[in-house]
This record gives sequence, structure tokens and C-alpha cells, in this order.
Amino acid sequence: MRILVLLFLALPLAAGDADIILHNGKVVTVDAAFRIVEAIAIKNGRITAAGKSADVLAAERTPRTKVIDLAGKTVLPGLIDAHVHALEAGLSEFRATIPTLDSISAIQDYIRAEARSRPKGAWIVVPRTLPPRLKEMRFPTKQDLDVAPDHPVAFDGSYVWSANSLALKISGITRDTPNPPGGEVVKGPDGEPNGILRNASQLLKGVTRSGTFSDQDKVAALGQMLQLYAAAGLTAVGDRAVTPAEVAIYEKLKSQRELPVRVVLTWRPNAARPVDQVVSEIRASSWTTNQGDDWLRFGTFKVTLDGGQSVGTAYQRMPYGPFGRQLYGQTDPDARGTLFVEPEKLYRIMSAARDKGWQLTAHVQGGAAIDTLLDTFERLDREKPIAPSRSHVMHGSFMSEEALNRMQRMGVIVDVQPGWLHFDVPALQRVFGLQNMRYFFPLRSYIDRGIIVAGGSDHMIGHNKNTAVNAFNPFFNMWACITRRTREGQVIYPEEKITRQEALKMWTIWAAFLQFGEKTRGSIEPGKFADLVVIDRDYLSCAEDEIRRIEPVATIVNGRVVAGRL
Ligand SMILES: [Zn+2]
Repeated sequence: MRILVLLFLALPLAAGDADIILHNGKVVTVDAAFRIVEAIAIKNGRITAAGKSADVLAAERTPRTKVIDLAGKTVLPGLIDAHVHALEAGLSEFRATIPTLDSISAIQDYIRAEARSRPKGAWIVVPRTLPPRLKEMRFPTKQDLDVAPDHPVAFDGSYVWSANSLALKISGITRDTPNPPGGEVVKGPDGEPNGILRNASQLLKGVTRSGTFSDQDKVAALGQMLQLYAAAGLTAVGDRAVTPAEVAIYEKLKSQRELPVRVVLTWRPNAARPVDQVVSEIRASSWTTNQGDDWLRFGTFKVTLDGGQSVGTAYQRMPYGPFGRQLYGQTDPDARGTLFVEPEKLYRIMSAARDKGWQLTAHVQGGAAIDTLLDTFERLDREKPIAPSRSHVMHGSFMSEEALNRMQRMGVIVDVQPGWLHFDVPALQRVFGLQNMRYFFPLRSYIDRGIIVAGGSDHMIGHNKNTAVNAFNPFFNMWACITRRTREGQVIYPEEKITRQEALKMWTIWAAFLQFGEKTRGSIEPGKFADLVVIDRDYLSCAEDEIRRIEPVATIVNGRVVAGRL
């Protein structure tokens, strides 16, 4: 019956006048039946047929049709990364490449090299680096950064920074400096600041990053980054935290040229301000979910609810314990991280956004932050069902059985970063113990409960798809879902592994669902946009460790080759 329906649907579209036909391939459609076909016809940027090579050629080919023999190559729906920070990442290597900073000695080499190229007294800021990924698995202190004593040096670990002796001196940070609200000037055994500033980087005076960027630079860097996404096989991305100024950069780029990939924007207003201010900004804004077009539109409203697991500020159900001191410079072994927005305020902000028609999310990494968000979602859900808004948990690193059940009950979905299984579990399990990693990205548990899982990288720094923070190579990330293998070679809770088909859905149809895009993208079906990626080996049958090494041959968006060649 399904086949008959599909044939019936395909016939009226078989206008016999395709712009392009790709044939003799292995086309993984990711349609409801997960059909594998041989050929695709494309006209005016849309897929007009998908089926056997002979049938598609017979029905769609005319003398003007460009016919491409895939010679057996695999074609996937265009891949979607639901979570990137394109502008920040684009600018990070816009002027100069960043070396791989995977150890404290690599950081020291970077500082020495920077010191040679700058006048004495000029600031050196080490690009954002996450201590769990350093070989030493510890937060650098002022002694580590004192390798360039004539320069103030700061290490950017996102919510936690570190500064060298000169930087502390210039900023007037001493043993008597009071801790700012919610922050800490960490002291060494001698009672002096050891350089680590937890949620307190604002105490650094006059710190500047290497140069500022004009709007023209920003437009160029963004265009370059989107092009790199296309080259990685991505045809759509979700930019997960934009401000009005950044929306303007996107619009400027779009007015200058066709975007290489489709972009869905997440608005994150500054929720640190008084609640009335935040609420009136939401009410006054003209933005809401699905506003825009198929190239650039608004998706989600976001609040940052807690800090990061990489710096010991994610708001946890359990304490960071003694290893937290080494890894994060955490002085209180009972510390559980930081909740940035208290529950009543969160509810008021979220309900204002809900009333404007927004899809809702919050950055939540720690378990207690997840629970706080789900409390808010439950309160909203009692007033009006939340499921139709496709509201979701963002990251949700430290899930629990109970949180999973609450999500399932409400129809709340999730945006996950499985690459962290590979990069961060070795350090995190030393902090929390293996048993507390049981629900670290529990992909099998989500899928078995029918919770839609959108795949994302949280790419923020660097242009190289494999070495960036975080790696945005979608094949690496799918491999991480399938194998759950850490960088130390351990398989972390194999019962949470998922299949190749499921991992592919996370980067296609399920990510499209999160973006309200599943009717036009995320699978290869007649009527949908011709967003495709041709790859160099067979995703479904290659050896498991080959998956992460798959390279795109060509990426096609709206029927146009935007990266690679055919
Ligand atoms: Zn993010």
C-alpha cells in the first residue's frame, strides 16, 4: 500500500524535465521506510523523483538534463548540525590560525610565540580551551602562564579564566580582593591568588583580545565559516545564541550573496538583567519562531541556565569533589556549580517567550539545572501543552531516569552533543565517578522513549572540522553516537549505543524536526529541497572506525553544488 501511495505521489511530479539527475548510486533516503534507491532527479532546487536509475532516467531525463553517474557512491540527505556558533567560530581563525592547545606545554609555547610578536605590556589571551581536554587534566595557574613575564596573560576557559602574575598586578587583584557576587578569586596554599578566576574574569582590567572586527570582517568571517560547514557535508545549521547585532550580520551576508547553507537562529537575550527588563524586551521584540524564510529564520528562544561541565560550573545534583580542585580550581569540595537564573525568574521569562509563540530551550549541562528547566516546562505545560512548541533540553549532559520520563511525558525533545562522550568523559568520570556517567548522553534511552534527538556539535572555536572546539565533522559525531568510544579507548555505557541509521536521523530528519523543517528537509523525498551530500564511502556498510573518516565528495544545497564537485 505504501509503495502504491509513493508511486502515485511521484507520478504527477514526473514532469520529465529535470535539471539534474544523479544515478547509479546508493541513495539513503531516510524516508519513513528508510528506503535505499539508486537515483534522484532535481528541478528548480527541489527533488522531483527518487527511485531506480532506469525509472528516474526514463521519466525525468530530457536533452537539457545534466546527468551525473555516481558510480556507486553513497548519497545522504544534507546533514544538519542543530548546534553551532558560526560567527564566533568564524572570527576565531579569521586573522590567524590557532594551534592545537591540548596540553599546558602547548599553551606555554603559544604564549611565548605571541609574546615575541607583540610589544611588552600588550595582553595575550589564550583562545578558549577546555581543561578536561588538556593532557594534564588540570586548570592552568599563574605559574603556568608566567612564561611571558613582560606581558599580561589570560587563559580563556569560558566561565573560568586564569591570569598570570602581571595580569593580576595590573588588575589590582590581591589576597584582599573580595570575591564578586557568584564568583571567586581562587587562592593558593600561600593565601595569594593562584591566577584562577571563577566567574570573575570581569576583574581583569584592560584585557583585550587581538583586535576588534569591523562589520565587514564579521560578514566575511561568517561567510567563510558557513562555507566550511558546507564542505563538511552540512546543508543547514542552527546558530544557538545570537544578539540583535549578530542577526544584522546574518542579514547583511544574505543580502550580499546566497548563503551556502540554511541557518536557523536562536535568540538569547541577556537574562542576567532584572526580570522586568528581560520580559519587556521579549514582549517588544518582533521576532518569533519560524519567522524568516527557508535560508534564514528564527528557531528558538534560549536562556543560559547554568555554567559548563568543562569548567566546573554546570549545576549538578552531586558535588564536584576533590578532583574538581585540580581540574577546575574548585576550592569547595561540596560545590555543585552555579544556577544563573533562579526558578521563579526563569518561569516569568519563559512564559513571556511562550506567549510570543517561541520554541523554548535553556542551556543546561548539570543534572540539577536540567531538573530546574523541566520544573519550569511542567508549569508551562499545565497552562498549555508544551509539546507542539517542540521545546527542548539543550545539552542535558547529566540526564537521569526521572528526567527522561518527565521529558517523555511532556513531549519535550533534546539537542545533544555526543562528541563530548569522546572528548570529555575521561576527565569527567574522574570528577564524578563512572556511576554518575550512566546517563551522560543516554541516546538509546531517548530513542526508546520516542524522544526526538537532534544532533549537534556546539562548535564555537576553530575552522578545522576535526580539531575545532567542538569538532563539527558530522561523521565524527555520528561515529561517537554509534561507538561511545572515549579518547582513552573506553566504551562508555554500551547499552546506550545507537545504530548507524539512528545516528544518521539525528543529523538529518530529527534535527530538521527540531528546526520545524521536516516537511522540506532531512530526507530525500519528492517535493523536498535538493539538499544532499555525496560521500566517499558507504556510511551504512563501511567498517565502524571508517565512519569518522568519511569525507564529502560534494555538498548540494537547493540543487546547487556548494562544496566539492561532481
Ligand atoms: Zn552552544
